[in-house]
Amino acid sequence: MSEMKPDSVETEERLLEKEQDVPVEDNDKAYEDSDKAYEDGDKAYEDDDKAYEERKAARQERRRRQKRKRRNRRIVGGILVTAVAAIGVGVGFYGDEIQTFFKEQQVKISQLTASNKKEEKKETAENTKKAEEAGKEETKETEQTSAKVEETPAPEDNQETMTKEEKKIYKRAKLYSQQYNYNKAIKILKESSYYETNSRFQHAVEVYQKKKDSCVSWPIDQVTHVFYHTLIADTSKAFDGDYKAADYDQVMTTIDEFNKITQSMYDKGYVMVNIYDLAKVDENGNMSAGEILLPPGKVPFVLSQDDVCYYHYMDGDGFATKLVVDEDGKIRNEYVNDDGSVSVGDYDMVPLIDRFVEEHPDFSYRGAKGIVALTGYNGILGYRTDISYETRPDDLDQNKVDWLNSHPDFNLDTEREEAKKVAQAMKEEGWVFASHTWGHLNVSQISLERLQADTQKFKENVDPLIGGTDIIIFAFGADLTGVEDYSGDKFEYLKNQGYNYYCNVDSSKYYVQLRDRYFRMGRRNLDGYRMYYNPDLLTDLFDASAVFDPARPVPVPPMGQN
Ligand SMILES: [Zn+2]
Repeated sequence: MSEMKPDSVETEERLLEKEQDVPVEDNDKAYEDSDKAYEDGDKAYEDDDKAYEERKAARQERRRRQKRKRRNRRIVGGILVTAVAAIGVGVGFYGDEIQTFFKEQQVKISQLTASNKKEEKKETAENTKKAEEAGKEETKETEQTSAKVEETPAPEDNQETMTKEEKKIYKRAKLYSQQYNYNKAIKILKESSYYETNSRFQHAVEVYQKKKDSCVSWPIDQVTHVFYHTLIADTSKAFDGDYKAADYDQVMTTIDEFNKITQSMYDKGYVMVNIYDLAKVDENGNMSAGEILLPPGKVPFVLSQDDVCYYHYMDGDGFATKLVVDEDGKIRNEYVNDDGSVSVGDYDMVPLIDRFVEEHPDFSYRGAKGIVALTGYNGILGYRTDISYETRPDDLDQNKVDWLNSHPDFNLDTEREEAKKVAQAMKEEGWVFASHTWGHLNVSQISLERLQADTQKFKENVDPLIGGTDIIIFAFGADLTGVEDYSGDKFEYLKNQGYNYYCNVDSSKYYVQLRDRYFRMGRRNLDGYRMYYNPDLLTDLFDASAVFDPARPVPVPPMGQN
């Protein structure tokens, strides 16, 4: 049954207690400010070929023109007001005839005023249209420029055509710059043998240098960390009323919800960063602060996903069944349909994020993706890689026995080879792996001996497949200590086993602890429970009311009752 309980279920109350210990800072204002800065800065960054100054000058000129027009209108308006006043004064002195005359004049004047207003409206509309066109032009310019890069020589040097090789280098540099790695973008352009003769390369270097200069170092203790469990691909199966439905309703997130959250975070300027960028570790295990350099308005965050093992208990409940690498080298999921046929697609977080970053490279800081936390008892990534599937001890879990009975061709080496291949491909895509303990254990409740035995199982069964890890994401959202610094046997043991990065679950916006020997980070659960009971804790990321999946049974069950 312990397998059934995903993270944070049993610890919710404890976490709520802890939340009171950890001050939740009011940073909404800071976020609003940075949102505004993002909007202001956005235009400047989307185009990387036209120099920032040129566009700024064009914008200023447009503004000056509008200002001049407004001033001219004010002058015309002033003359009209004077005329109306003069006519008004005259009314008292003359008879009906004259009043009629004045009435006619006033009608004319009001018509004139109306037409002037109309004119003004037309002008405003025109200005809006012009502004829109200018915006479009900027986009078009970008498109044209990149199209130009593809097909035609730059206008100022028509002697020169971008060769296939040049285009390749230019594209690589552009991707580096989109992902905020301006140094690398500049380096590969400057180091190429084409740099001296290709004015497009030279121009790009200037632009990247300006962007680099605009970046600011983000305080690493103000980086938020969000996490998910396996995403629900088919809500009718997950919420079918069986004994697991309540758990899924609390701690899982649907694919629809996930996609909306991701889009919202992207729109707000969030950028995925690697936990290894926040803190560095030297060969002696000593930690020091890392550095995140982002343009104004961009906000770093860390992403993780727990239990990416596709446990037996989830079979038939509307979840993906494993991660695979497709023929193009992309990470995908397998999903088993009702009739037993297998679909390959993007049915969980890893491929969904990969696809999103393909579309929006600037959602990833220097190619970073998230942390994938693994247990070992059912294998990893949907592969049955644990030694117990081969040794079949007498006390083997019933669901493993059942699975083995229905898979007579099971071969441990094959499973491990497959898992290793997928893990390698994921690492190349920017994903990193963490231990979630081999047996999904609550570190605050188990003995040191149990922790030691469990860690060794992880090191034997999982580490060889993922190339080892020094990150541990505790199961059940548990932790070694409260907010006070780590100490004691369990920490000394884990540190000695090479773990440097530690994560718990915490609903604070930021919970970051950098000490000489470890880096600790709290993570926020973006799941049914949080969205239903604490939507106010999520407003910096997304609007829960717009995200919450109508397919969820409500009320989401309170913790501790199922
Ligand atoms: Zn877990």
